[in-house]
Amino acid sequence: MELDKMDENDWKYHGEGNKSLVVSHLQHCRVLRLLKFPSEDSTAEQAFRHILNIVDYSKYVMKPLLGEKYVHSGEVVKLPLDFVRQLSLKVQQERPELRCDKVMDTFSGCGLCLPNLTQLPLHHLRDHRPPICVEIKPKCGFLPFSRHITKECKRKVCRFCMHQHYKLANGKWKRLSRYCPLDLFSGSKQRMYVALKNLLEEPQNNLKIFKGGELIFSCKDDAKQQPELNDLIQHLRPYFSHSNGLYNGHQPGKAILNEFIQVICSALLSGGDSNRSGEPRKVHLSESRPHCEASPFPRDLLRNAKYIVEEKKLMGVLAKILQVQMLDNLDIEGIYPLYKRVEQYLEEFPKERNRLQIDGPYNESFMDKVKNCPTEDDGSVEYAVGKVHQYRVAMTAKDCSVMITFAPCEEDEEQQLKLEKPRFTYSISILDLDPKPYEGIPHQYKLDTKIVNYYLRSTQAPP
Ligand code: ATP
Ligand code: MG
Ligand code: ZN
Ligand code: MG
Repeated sequence: MELDKMDENDWKYHGEGNKSLVVSHLQHCRVLRLLKFPSEDSTAEQAFRHILNIVDYSKYVMKPLLGEKYVHSGEVVKLPLDFVRQLSLKVQQERPELRCDKVMDTFSGCGLCLPNLTQLPLHHLRDHRPPICVEIKPKCGFLPFSRHITKECKRKVCRFCMHQHYKLANGKWKRLSRYCPLDLFSGSKQRMYVALKNLLEEPQNNLKIFKGGELIFSCKDDAKQQPELNDLIQHLRPYFSHSNGLYNGHQPGKAILNEFIQVICSALLSGGDSNRSGEPRKVHLSESRPHCEASPFPRDLLRNAKYIVEEKKLMGVLAKILQVQMLDNLDIEGIYPLYKRVEQYLEEFPKERNRLQIDGPYNESFMDKVKNCPTEDDGSVEYAVGKVHQYRVAMTAKDCSVMITFAPCEEDEEQQLKLEKPRFTYSISILDLDPKPYEGIPHQYKLDTKIVNYYLRSTQAPP
């Protein structure tokens, strides 16, 4: 990519989140990630530092924790301002309305260049069917276990399920999602199946599906509209053609979705990408992954003998993510007092902010503080900072996305996901690994209280 010859006509709108807007190259397997919200009043130097922090955080903190093979940190690029402005105009009409409250940064000229993870770079010519990419934002996969928790329901109902009620009340979504992260992170194929099925029925911002790099399935801009499962089935049909014959017209759409979900499950539980023969990672996180009381997964099935036999330990990419999420072992209720300890200390010794790496730099020394934080509170500021750093790292892992990109592969290829039939080449990545701001902790504390109180009020009918 020649940075001085950038042409907005080579790029098109790809997608966006709350913090960034992404454009993809028309020919090459590349995307540009541009930050949002006006940095008008911040200098180009600050914007550059900010983006550098994002890359460093991904490279030196999240990558070692989550695994080399899953994380692509990308590189910072300095783009011509003219190009960025033209690009911003070009993509404006493609942006979903619910995201238009923020604007793309057209002032700094800084961006992040990454591989386009919705594509498989070496795939193309082999097969006429373009790769399918499933992007899942799984959210927090465990029930908090900290002794600092004051509300019993937090030990029984997961944060995602509680948050759903709050979001519905605030008009963020029009329907409750039946997805429960604890089912996805259970390692049990049955529970994972249910979780993925519920994501397909109500994707919200937790599921997107791409075909050949184009978004084909996601939440509808108009929150009242159901996602088009039938359209999705039509897209998937050529990939699962044998199941057409197999089910012989008997609910063929259902059979296709069923196989599609199986493929995602197998990929999630596998070692990472089909090109490596490494041992799949089995992580013994606990005897059996806990269940959330708000999950629609049938409770009697949990006790069912067949289910118990089939229960597997969580492996693969989700095990990695869960391990990092669990660095939050005090819960926000335990972290908030430590945050205040740090604040008090900084008020007295403001120059210590750098040494304690409150706002970075996110380098090996930051990673040391995360890894070597004392396990017992000795009353020190070092302990408090270590726990706050760990909490922020866990928050990033609670907010990341997993991308599973797969395409049909030929019979004799060794790079494949071993399923009955058909077989797929696939690759798994983790993206959106930005640092979560230290200043956000008081907000997180208040939000937690609001969500829990609202949940208790809305589910416990008045006497
Ligand atoms: P969030 O609101 O979830 O924090 P964000 O603003 O931090 O999101 P990203 O999640 O990094 O932004 O990117 C927005 C979207 O762009 C993603 O959901 C994904 O669909 C797409 N995207 C991001 N990076 C890539 C990539 N390397 N390859 C392909 N698509 C990508
Ligand atoms: Mg995202
Ligand atoms: Zn739940
Ligand atoms: Mg993000």
